[in-house]
Amino acid sequence: MSRRTPGWIGTALVVTGIGVLLWLERKRPLRIAVEPPLRRIARNAAVGAVTAAAVAIVERPIVTRLSLLAATRAWGLVPRLPLPRALRALAAIALMDYTLYVWHVLLHRVPALWRLHEPHHADRDLDLSTALRFHFAEFLASIPWRCAQIALIGVGPRTLQLWQKLTFAEVLFHHSNVRLPRAIEAKLSLYVVTPRMHGIHHSVVRQERDSNFSSALTLWDTLHGTARIDMQHDEVTIGLPQFRDDEDVTLRQTLALPFKPTPIPTFPLKGKESYPPRG
Ligand SMILES: [Zn+2]
Repeated sequence: MSRRTPGWIGTALVVTGIGVLLWLERKRPLRIAVEPPLRRIARNAAVGAVTAAAVAIVERPIVTRLSLLAATRAWGLVPRLPLPRALRALAAIALMDYTLYVWHVLLHRVPALWRLHEPHHADRDLDLSTALRFHFAEFLASIPWRCAQIALIGVGPRTLQLWQKLTFAEVLFHHSNVRLPRAIEAKLSLYVVTPRMHGIHHSVVRQERDSNFSSALTLWDTLHGTARIDMQHDEVTIGLPQFRDDEDVTLRQTLALPFKPTPIPTFPLKGKESYPPRG
């Protein structure tokens, strides 16, 4: 029973955290919604449910087995570090976060990978439900990368689970439509990704979108010069320029997007001024 307690505490924390974020989204919204919320939330939840099923059936068995092997055979960099056990776990989590940053950059820079990530960015609003809106093909394509992360960094099952939970909590937080006090957000964004920061990453303008790739620690964007915090949230239009109408963002369209034989978008926009402002 005692071994199960931390799991219960973790679940209770996540449920409480989601409840607080949902309440704050209603009390202190950061952006005005473009779409009616219920239809959009149902669509994002459906996209997330398909992805969750793909993860449970395909990804989880592979990465769980691999992380067990990594732990028993002391694979990778972290087991070789002359550090106490707790610090090794922290190092592994930081390196997983860094390599997730690299993967996210690749999703944006490699055209074939962008097709898989595009459904996430096609959302015309940004809130907690966007954190669920990842296409299953993007998650399936990330399995080899995840395996390389686990084997090369040397991540055991417990550390992997902790990283997954922390990342999920941070992804929920930075997608949320919560207007934090500016002074608090400015301080927080020195360390972790905040809703205003991630809002810039969801801009229709490519130059703005190609920033703030970090998932948890902002350190990686700072080190690589991709951090951007110089914009007001109301200067950012959320979404992608080629998906502005209701029929562009239906559930069917969203799920079909990576498989459409359409040419890979060339992003003709040079700057925000070239995008016609919403009416
Ligand atoms: Zn992205």
